Amino acid sequence: MLSLALRTSRTALNAYRSRGIHAPASLNAVTETDLAHFASILAPSSVISSLAPVNSPTDELDPFNQDWMGRFKGNANTVLKPKTVQEVSQIVKWCNERRIGIVPQGGNTGLVGGSVPIGNELVLSLANMNKVRSFDPVAGILVADAGCILQALTDYVAPLDHVMPLDLGAKGSCQIGGNVATNAGGLRLLRYGSLHGSVLGLEVVLPDGTILDQLTTLRKDNTGYDLKQLFIGAEGTLGIITAVSILTPPAPQATSNVILALPHFDNVLPLFQTVKRDLSEILSAFEFLDRTAYDLAVKHGQGKALDESEVEGAQCFVLVETSGGRREHDEEKLNDLLEKLLEADEPLINTGVVSQNPSQFESIWGLREGVTEAISKEGKAYKYDISVPVATFKDCVDATRDHLESKGLMRPDAVKYVVGYGHCGDGNLHLNVCAAAYTQEIADALEPFIYELVQKHRGSVSAEHGIGAMKTHALHYSKDAVSIGLMKQIKGIFDPNGIMNPGKVLE
Ligand SMILES: Cc1cc2nc3c(=O)[nH]c(=O)nc-3n(C[C@H](O)[C@H](O)[C@H](O)COP(=O)(O)OP(=O)(O)OC[C@H]3O[C@@H](n4cnc5c(N)ncnc54)[C@H](O)[C@@H]3O)c2cc1C
Repeated sequence: MLSLALRTSRTALNAYRSRGIHAPASLNAVTETDLAHFASILAPSSVISSLAPVNSPTDELDPFNQDWMGRFKGNANTVLKPKTVQEVSQIVKWCNERRIGIVPQGGNTGLVGGSVPIGNELVLSLANMNKVRSFDPVAGILVADAGCILQALTDYVAPLDHVMPLDLGAKGSCQIGGNVATNAGGLRLLRYGSLHGSVLGLEVVLPDGTILDQLTTLRKDNTGYDLKQLFIGAEGTLGIITAVSILTPPAPQATSNVILALPHFDNVLPLFQTVKRDLSEILSAFEFLDRTAYDLAVKHGQGKALDESEVEGAQCFVLVETSGGRREHDEEKLNDLLEKLLEADEPLINTGVVSQNPSQFESIWGLREGVTEAISKEGKAYKYDISVPVATFKDCVDATRDHLESKGLMRPDAVKYVVGYGHCGDGNLHLNVCAAAYTQEIADALEPFIYELVQKHRGSVSAEHGIGAMKTHALHYSKDAVSIGLMKQIKGIFDPNGIMNPGKVLE
């Protein structure tokens, strides 16, 4: 599991200020009167505030104000950690009447600046709502508080022979409510689909404090508009998710993985076709790392490196995972595939290493899951999480590198690396620019260049991380004016006073 310690950086660019994003003037800051009201609702341990009489030290508030990348920094004077949906409802009702902005916060692992304030909004952390409410072992339906950590839920359902339908590198810190609010994709989407399919019901506190109880455990329910879908991926702009009902698939009886080294990027697509055809129903992940991503993961001790002689000349890597019902059958399929790939007249791969035991399985995954962590250790990451045709992955990375080169920015004290990796099976490229520091010059060189590149390929500016505060100005590259107009109308219906996560998703 990754350690997701928050990084604070004095040199961090205040990415809000640079783009002129401010909390709306119509919203108020929390005052001592508000604090006294919150203190009458909550246990003392649920309140952190720099205001009197609580007087918490700044370093208790800092982790809630600073995002995971150290790029976005808010200025909340108060963080509340309610324990029940009724407490959430009372807080939100008060904030709506008093016009206080609220930022719902889960594990604060979001990568688009959505989980921290843009000004002095109140942070409402779901961390104290962390109980499993029920699990139906026959249907595989889990109902849990929104603040349950994804890893804790994974551990909860494992002995009951089920798996969570999503998995991501941040699983040790992110919460199921945050996952739903961001419609997180991750490493299992290829196999189990998106949360729009596996989430069956939600309990949500609306911006006026009303509790919307749609916590159904039904697989089928065609009774009118499916309102819960609006909150999946809304990034906390329409309400606060307090509980989630989710379908968990039966645990596969056997899982295996293999890391493949490829001489050319051009081999990725034919390899994907071959792997899909030969592994069919047992294929559960097809992940991509370019050479730089692999080298950074190895450099920072993420997972186990392949033998140096074997990866010489490899331009990129693919991780294939299988999950199936019978170990012998699955292993035979995987080994047959590997043999076929290696013995071909014009092999698509240089080499491949199959995991032989659970620890090797973990260390092969570590190479891929550890890339985000490795890049953050190397420098400051500008993260672009885009959907583009797989055939263009390398072109997008190369074009960005060439563009930065032409601006004279590819140098150790500016941009150190341009890296491509991601969920290749879902057409999702994580294009990361790793710099010595966040600077305006680099930001200006990257945008709108990358968004225009995505638009050229008819892609999406956010495949899975969301819009947050980082990409509000870029929404129009992927959504037309009619769609954005409707989104604004929906926001107006749910949150007419604009208190819920202001400045996020919509400008
Ligand atoms: C190492 C690493 C790997 C990652 N890998 C992936 C990946 O593979 N796929 C992927 O999709 N993402 C990935 N992410 C991004 C991030 O982990 C996900 O977006 C995750 O779902 C966020 O969950 P969280 O609980 O940390 O939410 P937060 O970061 O706290 O919040 C994210 C957004 O959701 C809102 N929110 C949070 N909780 C609630 C709630 N209960 N109700 C309403 N709104 C809420 C916040 O206001 C914010 O807008 C990764 C991040 C890291 C650091």
